[in-house]
Amino acid sequence: MPDAAPILLWFRRDLRLADHPALTAAVETGRPIIPVFINDEVVAGQGAAPRFRLGLSVGSLAQQLESKGSKLILRLGDALQVLRNLIAETGATSVYWSRAYDPITKDRDKALKAALKDDGITAQSFTGHLLFEPWTVETKTGGFYRVYTPMWRAVRNRDVPAPVPAPSKILAPTAWPASDNLGDWQLDKAMNRGAAVLGPHCTVGEAAANDRLGAFIEDRVASYADQRDFPAVNGTSGLSENLTCGEISPATCWHAGWSSFRRGADQAEIFLKELVWREFAYHLAFHTPHITTANWRPEWDAFPWNTDESTAEVTAWKQGRTGIPFVDAAMRQMYVTGVMHNRARMIVASYLTKNLMSRWQIGERWFADCLIDWDPASNAMGWQWVAGSGPDAAPYFRVFNPVTQLEKFDRDGRYQKQWITEGFGQPTETALSYFDAIPRSWGLSPDDRYPSPIVTPEEGRMRALDAYAAREKPAN
Ligand code: FAD
Repeated sequence: MPDAAPILLWFRRDLRLADHPALTAAVETGRPIIPVFINDEVVAGQGAAPRFRLGLSVGSLAQQLESKGSKLILRLGDALQVLRNLIAETGATSVYWSRAYDPITKDRDKALKAALKDDGITAQSFTGHLLFEPWTVETKTGGFYRVYTPMWRAVRNRDVPAPVPAPSKILAPTAWPASDNLGDWQLDKAMNRGAAVLGPHCTVGEAAANDRLGAFIEDRVASYADQRDFPAVNGTSGLSENLTCGEISPATCWHAGWSSFRRGADQAEIFLKELVWREFAYHLAFHTPHITTANWRPEWDAFPWNTDESTAEVTAWKQGRTGIPFVDAAMRQMYVTGVMHNRARMIVASYLTKNLMSRWQIGERWFADCLIDWDPASNAMGWQWVAGSGPDAAPYFRVFNPVTQLEKFDRDGRYQKQWITEGFGQPTETALSYFDAIPRSWGLSPDDRYPSPIVTPEEGRMRALDAYAAREKPAN
């Protein structure tokens, strides 16, 4: 007789139905499936914007499951305890999930898997969040890649299984266990009034993510390399918020990129390369988990970083009031839309870590609170790359000049105008919306005067280079 005990399918950062190996495997067993999402300490530990965005994604997945005759069961609490309760309530004998590779989730999953196995439950994790499992990509001498370019060369021509369509039906159990109400979780609570401003900037759910990929491939991938560096231009895919929630699989993006490339869109290769930067970040987080919290290169521990988050300079940076237009435009873009253009991320990170000499963790945490595409691996790697403390990083003495960068990448001043009100007779709506999003306690108004630079690029550069030179000198 076939095993009719249900499988608990635990959704986490894989909030989709297509190209979902754990779901495919569960469907293939022919057993009933109980999809679950758990609001546990890992979810609670996320910043305001990512948690809000995750809530939208969970709501969208719940609707999708209903259309397949299924249901998403929502539970709050410690993940192991919740799963044990559900096993007791439903008679489930297996728990399936998609693997995660950031240290916090990985540690939780490891302990949980062992405990479920001790209970006699089949606890099985699957691929799906990455193109290549971190233990399958090795240098010629063994070990993981610490430098991006050779890793890219090593994986470029690897086979990635073609994406699998969503199942047409998901077998329901004879009775559904009780579920929490998503609204009661108030995943948007920490957003305050920002949620109403940010919401319309989110592109939520699997169908929207696929449409977004389709439009990018159709209209923009062929000119991706030419357009991707200009923050006022819609030249990139915008898929990071979808990839981070798992609303689309990286393999779906990879195959779409490759088919464009094969049809003659040479610039699609740069898009494929960017997807491999995401892999690189996860492989590093897997093999060297300290990258998410501490200097990847310990020699940077002795550098005289500012570690105080409450200085006037750091506050001005967070509030987009440094007096450096590229930095301020970018910080406001992030506050309103939950995303920031990649070039702008490099500029604001460089300004904080080099010109203001503040440790990268301050910026990393602020991004983790404000980004809807927050990703534990890419964010940490991005910050350490700019700060100079990471693997394959930009050298510390290479300090981006935010003034010349703006002249180069925002020649017509569109980006600046999009996000800065002060000094513009008729500010744009997007720039004004910043003042609807920020807390009233910041006391800022569009009528304020635009500040003078808190630290000019020249001053900041000299300060940083002096500190760097002092660090290089041997101690007497
Ligand atoms: P596209 O240009 O269309 O690229 C396609 C996909 O490739 C992206 O969606 C993303 O998944 C991946 N990708 C592109 N660039 C990078 C990169 N440099 N590193 C890793 N993956 C990349 N990305 C995040 O997804 N979450 C973060 O929290 C994050 N924090 C960052 C912090 C700093 C300081 C820096 C410098 C970069 C950070 N990035 C982060 C990387 C990058 O800025 C974003 O992935 C990119 O801006 C997303 O836009 P897009 O989806 O249009 O990308």
